[in-house]
Amino acid sequence: MVEVARELMQQAPKVSGAGDMFQLLRDGRPRTRADLAAVTGQARSTVAARIDLLMAAGLIAPAGEASSTGGRPPATFAFAPSARVVLGVDLGATHARLALTDLASTVLAQRDLPLLITDGPEPVLDQVALTGFELLAEAGRSPGELAGVGVGLPGPVEHATGKPNNPPIMPGWDDADVPAILGARFNAPVLVDNDVNIMALGEHRAAWPDVADLLFVKVATGIGAGIIADGALRRGAQGSAGDIGHVAVPGVTDIVCRCGNIGCLEAIASGLAVANALQGTTTPADVVALVRAGDVVASQAVRQAGRDIGAVLATSVSLLNPSMIVIGGILADAGEHIVAGIREVVYQRSLPLATQHLRIVTARTGARAGVLGASAMAVDQALSSEAVDRLVA
Ligand SMILES: [Zn+2]
Repeated sequence: MVEVARELMQQAPKVSGAGDMFQLLRDGRPRTRADLAAVTGQARSTVAARIDLLMAAGLIAPAGEASSTGGRPPATFAFAPSARVVLGVDLGATHARLALTDLASTVLAQRDLPLLITDGPEPVLDQVALTGFELLAEAGRSPGELAGVGVGLPGPVEHATGKPNNPPIMPGWDDADVPAILGARFNAPVLVDNDVNIMALGEHRAAWPDVADLLFVKVATGIGAGIIADGALRRGAQGSAGDIGHVAVPGVTDIVCRCGNIGCLEAIASGLAVANALQGTTTPADVVALVRAGDVVASQAVRQAGRDIGAVLATSVSLLNPSMIVIGGILADAGEHIVAGIREVVYQRSLPLATQHLRIVTARTGARAGVLGASAMAVDQALSSEAVDRLVA
């Protein structure tokens, strides 16, 4: 009996409710009722009823007429990204970037503001809420049109609860209920993740949507990675997948990390580590400025950081077999030096099958990666089959 039931389930059309049918339209391509009936295997009347529901909710709109071989041309329908808006929030140690976007993550209004994460959750999230409402007003949208909020934090986050977990540079934030605090202000669902994961998501969606297996590496004050596998962000069991900053670099025995271990990647190759090792630099931005000015010593130091990062990434390549490694974070602004160092070691240390089609490049979205990813995370939740079914019910 169980076998029969399972077989029936496998034969059943993959698409059942309006929410599922909407997923077919999310690519933005206009489709006719007949197209959707053919793909879903559902009756034309069922498809027509679901189109009416999605139209009434504003999620799809008429998109003109399809070409016809005779008779009246059939009407087409397509995703309407302007139906609602979401707020993407990228919080750093000393600054924040907020962007109000439509449901295709097109930015409608954006704001950068100085902010100290060490002020603690209530004051910081108050400021986020205030700015969010200002952006809504600026874009001419009402708070009721806000379908969700995505937040990136500069520390470890348990994604399921949205709570930071012992974040080293965020005193007062441990276990803070960020979704509840911001959710009460905005009256909308709030999703939280660490900054590297949202950057990986933003860079993937905006720049490389067709690359299914991608590793995003942020090299800034610290070092972390976000993993895209089979087209989706992978967070691991607790949300700490990709946390490569405290992996030991082979052969380093004399450098103690702030975490207490010896030879951590972050203690050797982060932007801060390079800045501390060079004369006359205190921040990663100083290092980038020196490299851009043609300083040979700084350029060599960044290239060596690239080699050290490459040693850890070679192991990641063996584990995950990505087809692309994207380097982001401020040290990526130092140009080709860091990527050259990474390539040198990854290609030398990995097996040919893993590297024959592997591309290692710098990020295209730059400082926008975080807000774009935070927006994409909120959109994914707002447009999930379940959320759409609730909306049209
Ligand atoms: Zn460490």
